[in-house]
Amino acid sequence: MRSDLLGGLALVAALVASLLSSTPARADACGGAIAPPTLTVRTDARPPTQDHSRGVASLSKDGNLAVPRGLENFRYAVGVTAADATGHTEWDMQGQALPDGRQCWWITQAKIIATVSTRVFIAKEIPRGSCLWNEVVKHEAKHVHLDQQLFPKMSGLIRPRVLAAISHSVVARSQAEARTLLGALLSKATRQAVSEFQRARDAEQLKIDTAAEYSRPNKICGEAAVSAIIQRAGPM
Ligand SMILES: [Zn+2]
Repeated sequence: MRSDLLGGLALVAALVASLLSSTPARADACGGAIAPPTLTVRTDARPPTQDHSRGVASLSKDGNLAVPRGLENFRYAVGVTAADATGHTEWDMQGQALPDGRQCWWITQAKIIATVSTRVFIAKEIPRGSCLWNEVVKHEAKHVHLDQQLFPKMSGLIRPRVLAAISHSVVARSQAEARTLLGALLSKATRQAVSEFQRARDAEQLKIDTAAEYSRPNKICGEAAVSAIIQRAGPM
């Protein structure tokens, strides 16, 4: 049973750009630090969903799922709780002409909306309503509960990291190039911050997966019930 992944982060950018017509900036000053842009980060946590489409073999070998492979008696995953995150960004930029004909651009304000949701996988080989089913649901509920405590902390982790990454200007040959460069800067910083949150979340989630917790279904439902599911799943 067990844990956890923040999936692909899709960033969509909406943009307002303006090239200032004031005196040209100094070319050698461009690329350096700017006053930090206005940055707001919001996390939307969606209600958890259940997924019965995948089998034991598929869940067990999925390297994106943080199952406790280090656990001495870990052999397979019959349930997994995963977190998916998608990001939406909106940002504005401003630029100035440089004396050499190029331009200097920077982000003036940005908004990041991160949507996070928890998906509970229960292996398709487990009969609905069986003892093992109930045990897996009970166990995964602990992961879901922890996600609900962790998700509100996500914005606080993302904000300072992204702010540090976008607090400098870039040299560009055109507004289009500036848009590409700054957009990449913002999305890369957001992805990295979300990955960092993911690692912290996975580490917290794996604390739930103790050896005692992991052997509970076998104790409560019996070795035979668990073996029957593994048999049904076929070779791993
Ligand atoms: Zn678990």
